[in-house]
This record gives sequence, C-alpha cells and structure tokens, in this order.
Amino acid sequence: MTVRASVSVAFCTLLVAGCGPSGDSSGTAGSSPSAGAPARVQTAGVAAGSATRAARVDTARLLAADDEPGQWMSTGRTYSEQRYSPLAQITPENVAELGLAWYADLGINRTQESTPLYIDGVLYVTTAWSNVHAFDARTGERLWMYDAKVPREWGSRACCDVVNRGVAAWNGKVYVGTLDGRLVALDAATGVPVWEIDTLLSRDLAYTITGAPRVVKGRVLIGNGGAEYGVRGYVSAYDAETGELVWRFFTVPGNPADGFENEAMAMAAETWNGEWWKLGGGGTVWDSMAYDPELDLLYIGTGNGSPWNQALRSPGGGDNLFLSSIVALDPDDGSYVWHYQTTPGETWDYTATQPIIVADLTIDGVERRVVMQAPKNGFFYVLDAKTGELISAKNFASVNWASGIDLSTGRPIENPAARYDRTGKPAAVQPSPGGAHSWHPMAFSPETGFAYLSASDNALIYAPARDFIPNPRVSNLGIDLAASSPEALAELARLPSGDYVLAWDPVAQREAWRVPGPAAGMLATAGGLVFHGSADSLVARSAHDGTELWRSENVHTGIVAGPISFELDGEQHVAVVSGRAAGNYYAPSHARLLVFKLGGNAQLPPAVEFTPPPLNPPPSTAPVEVITRGERLYLETCWICHENPGNAGGIFRRGLFPDLAYSPALVSREAFAAIVLGGARAPNGMASFADTLDEEETEAIRAYIIDRANAAAEGPGSPYL
Ligand code: CA
Repeated sequence: MTVRASVSVAFCTLLVAGCGPSGDSSGTAGSSPSAGAPARVQTAGVAAGSATRAARVDTARLLAADDEPGQWMSTGRTYSEQRYSPLAQITPENVAELGLAWYADLGINRTQESTPLYIDGVLYVTTAWSNVHAFDARTGERLWMYDAKVPREWGSRACCDVVNRGVAAWNGKVYVGTLDGRLVALDAATGVPVWEIDTLLSRDLAYTITGAPRVVKGRVLIGNGGAEYGVRGYVSAYDAETGELVWRFFTVPGNPADGFENEAMAMAAETWNGEWWKLGGGGTVWDSMAYDPELDLLYIGTGNGSPWNQALRSPGGGDNLFLSSIVALDPDDGSYVWHYQTTPGETWDYTATQPIIVADLTIDGVERRVVMQAPKNGFFYVLDAKTGELISAKNFASVNWASGIDLSTGRPIENPAARYDRTGKPAAVQPSPGGAHSWHPMAFSPETGFAYLSASDNALIYAPARDFIPNPRVSNLGIDLAASSPEALAELARLPSGDYVLAWDPVAQREAWRVPGPAAGMLATAGGLVFHGSADSLVARSAHDGTELWRSENVHTGIVAGPISFELDGEQHVAVVSGRAAGNYYAPSHARLLVFKLGGNAQLPPAVEFTPPPLNPPPSTAPVEVITRGERLYLETCWICHENPGNAGGIFRRGLFPDLAYSPALVSREAFAAIVLGGARAPNGMASFADTLDEEETEAIRAYIIDRANAAAEGPGSPYL
C-alpha cells in the first residue's frame, strides 16, 4: 500500500488561502502515482465520520429516485439513465418566461461535458482536467472546489480532449474519475478527499478517465478510455466507503498463455486471431453504463478495437468479443451474463459506448423491458433487457457500411467495400470515426415514447496503414489517413453530411422529427419539453414535434453537455454547463454553470473580445520528399488531436486543439522543436514527443505544416470566417 503525501495538497476549499477556481494556468503540480498494480492511498488528516449532511444518497434513495422528482442524484437521474425529469412546472405555455437565475464561472478555458448532480440544495459539477465544484443551488455561492491536479502532460494521452462528464454521489461523498486514471472520493460537504485509488493497470499506458462514475449497491463503478493508443479495456467496482477493489471485468481477452480471468474471457478469445494482446485490443468502457434493479443487471457499453484496423489487430478476422458491445454483468461480482455486439470485427472506430437507456416499451402489444442504444455505427438497437435478444434495429442516420441488421442472426449485413481491412483499398465509409452519435447524452420520454439524441451524417476515407509499427505512445490506429482514390473521393462527395437533433420512436423504429443542430446532450421533461445546447444558447423544444419554444440569451459559447432539471423552493430549474471551443482553440470558452428558472432575470457579462490569430506562415521551401515524409509522420503522430493543418482545428474536434497552421513556432526550427521535443507546451497538455520523434522527423513535420499553411493562406478565405 502506497501512501502518497502529495494527496494532502491535491485539493482545496475556499476556506484555504490561495485556493479558488483554477484555469489552465494552474500548473503542472501533482505527482504521478507510482507505477504498478492499483494501490489504495489513504489521505492523512481527513476527519473521519465528519457530520456531513451533504449528498446523503443511499441505495433506497437511488432506487426510489422517482419519489423525489426534484432531485438529480445520479448522472442519468435514475438507474435507467433516461434523463427524463418528472417535473412539469415549465411547460410549452410558459417556457418563454424562462430566464437565468444565476451563473457561475468555472474558470477553465476548455470544453465542458459535465452533467451536474443536484442533491438537497447543492449542485455538483466537474470541469475539464477533472476538477469538481459544489454550489449552493439557491444563491449560486461556491461551497468548495477540488483541483484534481492532473499532470498536464497527460493531456496528450487523451484522444478527444481533457474533458470530464460528471460525478457520482453516495453517503456523504462525491466521486470523480480523473483524466490520469485516479478515482477520488470527496467529502461532499467540504471537497476534501476521503480516499483516492489508482485505477490503471499501468501508468506507462495511455489510459484516461473522462466518464462519470456510477454507484450501484455501494460500489463505485468506473471504466476508462485509451483504445486509440493500444490499451485493454475494463471496468472496475470499488467499495464506496473504503476504495477497496471489489471486482474487475475485462472487455477483451489477454494473452492466453497467462490464463484467462474467467470463462467469458476464454469464450471471447475464441473470436480473436494472432497476438492481439500485444496491441491492447481496446474495448474501453469510457462512458455509458446503466443498471436495472428489477433484473439486477448492470449494462456497460464497450469501445472500438485497438488498433482500428482489424487486419492488424486480429489477422483473419473474427468477431473480437467484446468490442463494440453492450455487456450485461452481475453487479455483485462483475461476472458476465450476456452480450450483444453491435459491430462484429469492428474496424471503423464504431464504439458502443454511447448512452444506454433502460425502459419499458409496448412492442406488438406486449410490454417489454428493454435496453436501447444509438451507437456510433448509426443503428438504433432495442434489446431485451433480461436476455440481450435483439428485438429490433434500424439506422437512425445515414450509413453505408451495412445495409441493415439481420434480425434472425442479430448481425449487420455488411457492405464488403467498406472493409478496407480486407480489400486493402481506400473506402469512403459512413459514419466516420466521429460517429452517427457520440457521447452526447440521449434522453427518453415515457410520455412521448421518443428517444432524443444528437445525430450526425459524416464519412471518412479509411485505408490500411502501410508498414504499421505499433506505438502506444501516439495514436495507434493502423489506418493511412492520407490514402485516397478517385472512387473513394467520388463516394465521399455523394454521401450526405450534417448534424441534427433527432426524435426517434424506438417501438416503430422510425424518425418522429428532426431539426438541424449541433451535437449536444438532451434532457426530456414531463412538461412536454426537450432541452439541449446549441452553438450559443440553451434551447427548449416541443417534445412532440420539435418546434422551438424558447432560446436562452446568447451565452457566448457552445453548450454540448447534458442539461438537468431540479426543484428548489417549489420552483423548477434547469441547469447546464456551457463551454465549447467555438471552432478556434484560442477563443475563450466561457465555461460556466448556468441555472434557469421561470422569471429568472440574471444577466451574463458581455462576451470577451476575441481576435483570431493571423494565418501568416513562413514560405514553404523544403523539398517535396521532406514534405511528403512530414505528412506521413504528422498523420501518425499529430493528426488525432490537431487534424489537418489549416482546417481551423479539425472536422471532428472543431477547435478543441490548436490548428498548427497558425502556430507562431513555424517560423523557427528551434521554437518548433522546443515544443515537440522539448515539451515547452506541456503545461497545456502537449507533452514532449522526444521518445517518438527525432530532430529530423520533427523538422519534416514542420515542413509539412508550413506547406499546408501556405495552401490554406492561398485558399478561398480564412477558415475562421
Ligand atoms: Ca474511439
């Protein structure tokens, strides 16, 4: 057991001098927990058994959450994760009177994906870099703030930004998973850590945590991310009081020579080929879980294969269980009960980590207990909650990788041309790795019978990597992002694109309504409303037909996180966290907790003025062979975060990371190397790549970016406009 003295400084409350909301400038402090097996670390000096009255959540309250409709005690409100509020004070007739009750700055200039919890008058929210804030829901006063002190260089292990999606609560404590893989229990009254656990198999692997923990039967459940880098996925259950590991379920098998952890792993290994364990395998449980108390089953969603390209991961194919699956587990011991695999032999980054919802549906005149999911692959699945039997599946967005799902086998009817891993040819495949639906919370209204989600039509040209060399230090996808063909480009141009808010009838498996809109989390209410974020405001729509009924004042940033609703002093409130890179990494994100109620009249301060940096690259003078080499290195090493230079921060990431075409460091070999090799931007999350790239390779990457920046500068206007 390792006692980590630094834990005692890894928190602060407003009662402590020098504490307060910290931004990106909060520094690189925070030690790395020792490598090796997960070790419990007990914080010294915490008053055990403090007479807290905060977050008094237990099994009885969570099971009876519908008896307390004014609370929001777990991330999906109830174990079914429907994100449906039974509150009905705010209606289509009065929603126009909704206004800001109060707001609080979160003091961190990154994208925010946190769903708040509301428990007995207190709101708990997380921010980017895994910090936690507690607010008095009546006044907006900040009660405490916990700084997780995530080592900033860990940011370069995160494929998709340093986000966090929220806390769990239990018996006077709130729990946060940190980007660097720790699970921390905080005293809900003070924000002081009670215990802290390293959940990672190894700190030498690129594991991350961005998802919200859940508490079931007194155990804290948490998974992790990292399947873009070469890790093996798993979910763990810790005793909520002590932090002791109770059970762990791996989602993909390890090396058979080491023996399998359980029969499920032996079964799964039958569906793999080659030496997959050397590449990690993937299947990370990075976001969704749900629990059905009636059936006493825990449902987890698993991620994509690692690497993406199945021919490299499992030569000769195979289903590769339990990638891209919903897996039902016994919550008492983590043992396998059933699984449904959405994408057998996954090869396109088609995770099934998207929100899982448990519901009762009447199908063909029979009441069925179901689990529902709309994963990245574009199909909406309805499964029997007890057995995992596929009841129905239909594409909710544009897809070309499969023409449908065979209900007799439960398997997709694949388009052979999409299997670039087998054909070896570039293929324009829809959806792209961005997914037809990503992490954004889905809601379900028992009143309308519709599921609400943000959907997207998108596509990418996939092709196998040439000369793949596994390197878990950088993105490890096994595909060649530069490859193309006239046929693939023609197909790509033909495929539809666009983002929209979608209401889906899961019984009829058909669209109820759609409206254009960017990806964001959903909230459904008994008042007949759906709330979701947009590029600059919170929006309320009719749950029945999608008509826009209200739009908040301009909040100067995008809202992508999931809203909640709660009742305080007899008034229904709606709370949501704002903050989204608005197509430019350097733009202020205006990260805030926003709380609305009928008649609210608080005012936000004016937007911070922002002038985008100029696109002013040095001339491109490098030989073409250097630029070509630099392109390949860039795509292997840099693309997963920065995407194409001159593209204003990317197609998928949309400004989460700097567009390197605009980097002032391009003018100087030394300045560029100081960042890439010297780690000069490590405090912002850009670690040194000195163990991956040498000086010549770094210079080739600089030459490539300069070439692309000049092309962008000569192109039709700035992509910022
Ligand atoms: Ca992925």
